[in-house]
Amino acid sequence: MAAGEVENIFSDILDRAKELDPVNTRKWFDNLSVLKLTGGSLEIACPDDACAQFLQNNCRIAFTRAARQITGHLVTVSFLPNGHTQPDSSGQRRPDRPTLHPDYTFENFVVGPSNRLAHASCVAVSQTPGNVYNPLFIYSSPGLGKTHLLHAVCHEMIRNSGSASPRLLSCEGFINDFIQAIEKGDLAGFQNRFRTVDALIIDDVQFLSEREQSQEEFFHTFNALYSVGKQIILSADSPPGEIPSLEERLISRFNWGLVARIDPPSYETRIAIVQKKAHLRGLDISDEVAGFTARKVHANIRELEGALTTLYAVSMTTGREITLEMAQTALDGQIEIAARHIRISDITDVVARHFNVRLADLHSKKRTQSIAEPRQICMYLARQLTRHSLEEIGGHLGGRDHTTVMHACGKIEDLDKADPKMHAVLELLTGQITQTARV
Ligand code: ADP
Ligand code: MG
Repeated sequence: MAAGEVENIFSDILDRAKELDPVNTRKWFDNLSVLKLTGGSLEIACPDDACAQFLQNNCRIAFTRAARQITGHLVTVSFLPNGHTQPDSSGQRRPDRPTLHPDYTFENFVVGPSNRLAHASCVAVSQTPGNVYNPLFIYSSPGLGKTHLLHAVCHEMIRNSGSASPRLLSCEGFINDFIQAIEKGDLAGFQNRFRTVDALIIDDVQFLSEREQSQEEFFHTFNALYSVGKQIILSADSPPGEIPSLEERLISRFNWGLVARIDPPSYETRIAIVQKKAHLRGLDISDEVAGFTARKVHANIRELEGALTTLYAVSMTTGREITLEMAQTALDGQIEIAARHIRISDITDVVARHFNVRLADLHSKKRTQSIAEPRQICMYLARQLTRHSLEEIGGHLGGRDHTTVMHACGKIEDLDKADPKMHAVLELLTGQITQTARV
């Protein structure tokens, strides 16, 4: 096939993938290019590691479907960061690099009075790790930008020094790694992995609550890194002293450096965030619509983004422009769902009853098929019906990490489309959950 022809086919595949998955479409998709399209394999070059990982995690199914629809053949799709020509066995990513969200950069973070200190301190530590505020502790209610800032620090550290190896993980990830190390009798390996990083960045440390053994190990990890001047950054949903059952010696260490709080954003900041997010998705929205959206949703930026996703999805499926009137109609339903505050426990209750499994089993690590699928359905429904992050959902359902949750959601989503029985079950469960949550 001539190069021009391959590019034309790729351009059609890209357009189709955007149609199939408008929610995950980003402006930088325009920077994707085709490396190879032969023998049932499509290799796509991405701007960087984070973009490749984002596509791999979120968009592989849409691209595979799009490629199949456009070419009429089964096509295996892989995403390669620029400069690579062959996918490596680790999923195209340097194994020592954390999985970063490509959108979570400082450029994409809107600074306002509510987050100015947290933002400035993150910028400072990313420029001179270990020197200014150590540890740096960021806290806020959910959905106000902690995870975004931690990823931004990592992006920046890697950009400033290509050889830096910051380690970013959820607190659940740390605990799971630790438990596995004990199970495998390889504590030394665990300690070596955690004590040789350039910076340790742990998200949602409130999950250390009541985990005495993990707290003990974390304490030693902290000391080892701190004593050699390595940067430590932590986030949580409350200040150190208010995390339940956290050892005094950890509370005191967490307070050694800078503790910065993020408050809910002002109306002006919310408008700027809506506009920034719209821009990232290559969406044009008027000041009027941005203002309306920002007025409707105030407590949580994740919900603000959800509102934007709704507008985008409605506009894609109806082919209509996003006008104020359309936004008013589209967001009314969305706000109702948000206001009902579905909790993960509402979901697990309904799912446990439907499949006749024990609640305790859904929360456990058991992998038997009769438990695993209902648990995956819980994860999928939690993703659809709540604003919890993947980490939070994993934390509630057997302490799974975000990749497991993502995998579960992908699987159930596929079944939802392919299997009418599954579709009917999901509809039924969704109906029951929203009914339960309403009362
Ligand atoms: P948290 O970790 O505090 O629960 P996240 O970092 O996951 O919150 O943020 C939720 C969503 O809101 C993310 O998509 C993030 O990009 C977005 N967000 C939060 N604060 C800002 C901000 N100041 N500017 C742009 N986006 C933001
Ligand atoms: Mg978070």
